[in-house]
Amino acid sequence: MANAAYDVVIIGAGPGGYVTAIRAAQLGLKTAIVEREHLGGICLNWGCIPTKALLRSAEIYHNMQNAGDYGLSADNVRFDPAAVVKRSRGVSGQLAGGVGFLLKKNKVDVIWGEAVISKPGEIVVSKPKKAVVEPQNPVPKGTKGEGTYQAKHIIVATGARPRVLPGLEPDKDHIWTYFEAMVPKEFPKSLLVVGSGAIGIEFASFYRTMGAEVTVVELLPQILPVEDHEIAALARKRFEKAGIEILTEAKVTKAKKASGSVTATIETKDGKSRTMKVDKIISAVGVVGNVEGLGLEALGVKTERGTIVTDGFGRTNVAGVYAIGDVAGPPMLAHKAEHEGVICVEKIAGLNAHPMDKLKIPGCTYCHPQVASVGLTEKRAVEAGHKIKVGRFPFIGNGKAIALGEPDGMVKTIFDEKSGQLLGAHMIGAEVTELIQGYVVAMNLETTEEDLMHTVFPHPTLSEMMHESVLDAYGRVIHM
Ligand code: FAD
Repeated sequence: MANAAYDVVIIGAGPGGYVTAIRAAQLGLKTAIVEREHLGGICLNWGCIPTKALLRSAEIYHNMQNAGDYGLSADNVRFDPAAVVKRSRGVSGQLAGGVGFLLKKNKVDVIWGEAVISKPGEIVVSKPKKAVVEPQNPVPKGTKGEGTYQAKHIIVATGARPRVLPGLEPDKDHIWTYFEAMVPKEFPKSLLVVGSGAIGIEFASFYRTMGAEVTVVELLPQILPVEDHEIAALARKRFEKAGIEILTEAKVTKAKKASGSVTATIETKDGKSRTMKVDKIISAVGVVGNVEGLGLEALGVKTERGTIVTDGFGRTNVAGVYAIGDVAGPPMLAHKAEHEGVICVEKIAGLNAHPMDKLKIPGCTYCHPQVASVGLTEKRAVEAGHKIKVGRFPFIGNGKAIALGEPDGMVKTIFDEKSGQLLGAHMIGAEVTELIQGYVVAMNLETTEEDLMHTVFPHPTLSEMMHESVLDAYGRVIHM
């Protein structure tokens, strides 16, 4: 006996799921969303938002420590780890609560529990199994519960969880994932971060600023492996200057636990073995999609390396079943999840939706200094067969950067020599995570160097460096 029938049921209320639900409801589709643990998913509860709140505390702490540089004095600057974490949890809780409000406002039914696709067009929701993490907010009021629900279209938006390396299994105590690293009772005095993607680097940056001795171990030759090599090299220099030890082409082969510490064995680039005793290890070696236990195998939904295979509209190989967000593969970013969901329901509603173009998805790392990029790296542009023109502009040549006391950084742009098409933009420095969107819009509008050169940028702003970088690519740079 079915509890209710819907046009669209979405499994998972992360940023992918809840934004998809709201857009579906706006399009007049009768919509429900199933969630087993927390509205807002990883992003709002354990990812994007709480890390940015922690990093903001670190930024203010850093600025207060350097108040003298600005003619100010702040003596005896200290922090209270519990208060820093409490603020971060408060920000998360506030936003997760806001998701409940938005779903209600848009008349989306929220079904609380664990969903399984029992057969095409049908979902069975049961009591959540043991929560992966304890929910910080109570189950929202007015939700529906266990039962069988019919849906013309089922969208899987179940997200991802930390990847586990053999020998480095997280234990909530000595070896942390992002869950434990987000809510420490005490801040570790020494820390080994395994993996130098955005998550690993953000935690390394946060804990280093808060005074920990931090080492980052990366298997590949470059930290921030998806970024342009020049930007990653600059980031490495800055992190090392800040006191973070970085070991590339290295791997942790063993972790021996003791009371209050863990000793890692690290195989380094030169083939030597080194041991390091630290308070905590953070394993940040990527995430894997939540594809299990959903009934996908029985339905014949194709999965590949822990994610669901989809086309540019979120459609799987099985009619009526869709997937969006982290569970549908990289880049595993909240804005990708949201956009993918919107495209998916707009296609379902018969709108003229544009398929996802993954090249135009920006990526940001909110460490100190920040890193942001969109499009092809220099190496990938050349590999793709482009003859390129490259522009560079350093922060030291920008008035606003000097006024801010942020002279370190660079804006790099890559153009196709023949057509002038902007192929990629890569930045490191203060506020670049806010700046990058200018280039994202430009790329979406298929802008050439000429359009960008004719654009007027306000003075004095950091954005002027975006202009200068373009001018540099064509031998017209002014302030350098
Ligand atoms: P999720 O947010 O993972 O949500 C999936 C939801 O599905 C969860 O709430 C889960 O409980 C629910 N669910 C799963 N299975 C079931 C089931 N069977 N029944 C019912 N419910 C189910 N991205 C950025 O863009 N910017 C950042 O700055 C950023 N920072 C990050 C920092 C950290 C530490 C981490 C871990 C991630 C970060 N990310 C960031 C990545 C971002 O969090 C994810 O890309 C995003 O959350 C993916 O959204 P989603 O909707 O696909 O899945």
